Amino acid sequence: MVEQHYLNNTWIEISESAYEHNLKFFRKLIGEKTELSVVVKANAYGHGWQSIARLAMKHGADSFCVHSIDEALRLRRAGFHQPILIMGHIPLNRLEEAVQEKFRIVVFNRETVERLDQITTRLSALARIHLKLETGTYRQGIDASELDWYITKLKNTPRVVLEAVYTHFANIEDTTNHDYANFQKYTFNQMVKIIKDSGFPILKRHIACTAAILLFPDTHMDMVRLGIGQYGLWPSRETFESYKKNGEKNGEKLLLPVLTWKARITQLKWVDAEHTIGYGRTFKTTRKTRIAVIPVGYSDGYDRGLSNQGYVLVHGKRAPVRGRVCMNLMMVDVTDIPKVKLEDEVVLIGNQGKEQITADELANWSGTINYEIVSRINSDIPRIIVK
Ligand SMILES: *Cc1c(COP(=O)(O)O)cnc(C)c1O
Repeated sequence: MVEQHYLNNTWIEISESAYEHNLKFFRKLIGEKTELSVVVKANAYGHGWQSIARLAMKHGADSFCVHSIDEALRLRRAGFHQPILIMGHIPLNRLEEAVQEKFRIVVFNRETVERLDQITTRLSALARIHLKLETGTYRQGIDASELDWYITKLKNTPRVVLEAVYTHFANIEDTTNHDYANFQKYTFNQMVKIIKDSGFPILKRHIACTAAILLFPDTHMDMVRLGIGQYGLWPSRETFESYKKNGEKNGEKLLLPVLTWKARITQLKWVDAEHTIGYGRTFKTTRKTRIAVIPVGYSDGYDRGLSNQGYVLVHGKRAPVRGRVCMNLMMVDVTDIPKVKLEDEVVLIGNQGKEQITADELANWSGTINYEIVSRINSDIPRIIVK
């Protein structure tokens, strides 16, 4: 049988050993009692939701977090029976599906509770909700001034079960100054106390994303929502620095990147000096130049901002991107790399020989963050699990 990757021009390799390493690292940090929920929204941050869901369950995760009801349904239909928290808004007309599939439903709108009340009464079913508390991110969440309404309402809707409360930090990964995060934590605890004291003593609490898991053990609570870290990427340089400051010296190898993005060269050509490469003629050769065509472009998720900025690895060496990145193609300079042939393997993200190109580097070159680099890799590109 021909191995899958010989059949493609571009593909993603997912390292099972790296993923297992990362998940065990986080499990060790949080202990056995805290629920380890893996965030697999956005096609598992571009890593491929089926592959990651399978590896996550094999290596000790407890549950999933996704953004949309469609992501949750895909997991269910693929046979994942673990709890799934839907963190984004569920259209009111689809709440019945969410109840029937026993999803964990996030609540930050009164209309959602009203509708769940009607649905669960009609179906004699239960809805498990996670109430999202506003603590200063001002994205999704209910304000302290609204607590009374929710408490009164939920006391009168016994089929709408308040399983958990949670919140999300605004800048925990953006800075080494954690005053605001501490303020949010304090606000959260105050709100939790009000809810508990008013007759909901058994409440799960969860507030930790990757950066919080790494930096603040007191955020682990009953469950964590582990996103970027499981994929072997740091939430930010600042988180890495803060983590090291907390006493961990050899931090570099703590997380292992899981994703490698590969492609093969689809054409090679010589271009004379003083000729231009690609659309807009933005790169002009200064010498006789060996150009390799790579079958990856911005529609595949390789940002057009990397035009004349990025590098790829060929034979373990860096080859610069020349000219503009096109929709499905780009050109790189391999003049200084001997013996390059048609269909040679190229690495866009990952290791080759002694060289490495990280998602963080691509993010720096194109003015964004590693989250965006990996989550925008087109989901049509095959994901292959390797050792
Ligand atoms: C995406 C997301 C997370 C995961 O954050 P990471 O920084 O990737 O760990 C956690 N909580 C919520 C609400 C999210 O939207």
